[in-house]
Amino acid sequence: MKVLFVSGELAPFAKVGGLADVAAALPPALFELGADIRIIIPRYGIIDSEKYPMEKILSGVEVEFKGKKNKINLFQAVLPDGSVTVYLIENERYLSKGGVYLSEDASSCGNEAEFERFGFFTVSVLEILKNLEWQPQIIHCNDWHTGLLPLLAPKNFRTITTIHNLAYQGRYREEIVLSALDKDKKIFHPKDGHIIALREAILNSGLINTVSLAYAKEILTEEFGCGLEKDLETRKKDLSGILNGLDVNLFNPETDTDIFRNFSVNNISAREENKARLQKILGFTEDKDIPIFGFVGRLTEQKGFDILIPALEEMLGENMQIVILGFGDKNYEEKLTAFARKNFAVKISLNFKFDAELAQKIYSGSDFFLVPSRFEPCGLIQMIAMRYGAVPIARRTGGLRDTVINYIEPDGNGIVFEKYDIKDLLEALKKAMEIYQEKEKLLILRKNGMAADFSWRKSAMKYFELYQKLIFPR
Ligand code: ADP
Repeated sequence: MKVLFVSGELAPFAKVGGLADVAAALPPALFELGADIRIIIPRYGIIDSEKYPMEKILSGVEVEFKGKKNKINLFQAVLPDGSVTVYLIENERYLSKGGVYLSEDASSCGNEAEFERFGFFTVSVLEILKNLEWQPQIIHCNDWHTGLLPLLAPKNFRTITTIHNLAYQGRYREEIVLSALDKDKKIFHPKDGHIIALREAILNSGLINTVSLAYAKEILTEEFGCGLEKDLETRKKDLSGILNGLDVNLFNPETDTDIFRNFSVNNISAREENKARLQKILGFTEDKDIPIFGFVGRLTEQKGFDILIPALEEMLGENMQIVILGFGDKNYEEKLTAFARKNFAVKISLNFKFDAELAQKIYSGSDFFLVPSRFEPCGLIQMIAMRYGAVPIARRTGGLRDTVINYIEPDGNGIVFEKYDIKDLLEALKKAMEIYQEKEKLLILRKNGMAADFSWRKSAMKYFELYQKLIFPR
């Protein structure tokens, strides 16, 4: 079973959000199951080649794009755990300057420069395959970045696309795509004068899957389908949902070197030191009786800031500490900054940056984690939080529905609210304050979260089965 996993992000080389974590953890899990799987990504400017040694294996491969011949180089590295080969495509003009995305919040902005990056990446992958001795049977595509690959790939390759977020689609004016690719217009399925990369993936991939069972159902509805629900409906029999896992070796409170003190479910009291020291570095009052609410992630509408900020406004009299780590939509950054200036009992620490080490300190020191998403294909932060003993406060949607169990259930591991509105979230926040006073109850929620199996084991098997289905269709 030979598989090329094509991704726009890959941890730790170039991480923005959950896609990077999945790209770094799913292939090794499949490798363990016996797949010869390799990953290919652009060699972005931000990738630190001193930290991640790489070797040039192909140079000067020609790629036609925008009517010109461009040269690319191929580098080879390996994932830090030594398991899976990583190919990196270098091209100064289109791929190798700066970070991953051109938009602040990792959404697809749909402009020409973005198409130049990911459209060029797509055609470069195909050129590389013509020059590489190793040949995959399957090309595993991910999200809009690689949306045109299933359409453009020669038919001897089987294709599968995983949708990590349907809201980001790579929607480009027809002329942009046609002038760059020199392809017959008829092969595309334009809509309102635009070619939509993710739509092409949905219509052309051998199989399609998304990252939780609940989201796989939700995206067939108008509410969550982001305008592609009808296209997905036509592929319903080839569409499935597979819950993401976590790299449980990397996200492990027993061995994590980024946290202040290691701990486990059998030694939860050692966790307290992480909280105390987190309070210290954030400039909060060091007090174990004040609960910390954490958030790590992109500041986007998806993550629920339109209800979170007003709900927090209602909590101003409460003795609570909030820490936010993330960046994105400037509007939310401003609103949060305005909130932080209010001199009330609530204290808030704002960290508008990417900081993988601080993220781990927040997971291990927070009491609760804020996940009030408007929609959530899978969501990793609630799983990482639980693994580190922080109790998620989550809206019942997508992957949150499949992973967070409400505190009233026997094996509850979080606080779940139904509706995407301020009132429901506010009630959940108040419930958290209440539960914080009931130490026994809180401990049970923490332990249930820490004991849950968030490994890739089961889900990797399901991907393996999809690969088999692609190679041996019934
Ligand atoms: P999404 O994929 O929608 O961005 P997920 O919850 O699936 O959200 O995954 C987010 C991942 O990115 C987690 O591993 C989280 O810790 C990490 N992350 C997001 N923003 C930051 C940040 N500013 N600093 C460090 N890690 C971050």
